[in-house]
Amino acid sequence: MVNCPECVSREIEKKKKQLEAEFNAAEEEGREFRVPAYRELEDEIDFEGLGLIMKLDTSTKHFICKRCGLYATREQISDIRYKLSRKEATRADKQYDYLDWWQKSKKEKEAE
Ligand SMILES: [Zn+2]
Repeated sequence: MVNCPECVSREIEKKKKQLEAEFNAAEEEGREFRVPAYRELEDEIDFEGLGLIMKLDTSTKHFICKRCGLYATREQISDIRYKLSRKEATRADKQYDYLDWWQKSKKEKEAE
């Protein structure tokens, strides 16, 4: 089964927004909040239920996404997925840096 990389990336964006809100709420209440890794977010998505499984056109060997209309070969799909995950990884790193900084500053405050 092939998932549409564009739609999957959009679903992950949505999940991240949700997480950000939860994180901010936890921060305000002084609760601990563990931000899941990109991989974990991906695992939580119900690809089939959301209609993210691409349909194979056997005559042209192209996959079609019924949701966004992406039309691509298997190679093109892995290329798109790779580019999207690279972009995502850089952003996730920044988020972790932020979390690290925030947790450290919190500990320093507690130590005073
Ligand atoms: Zn799609």
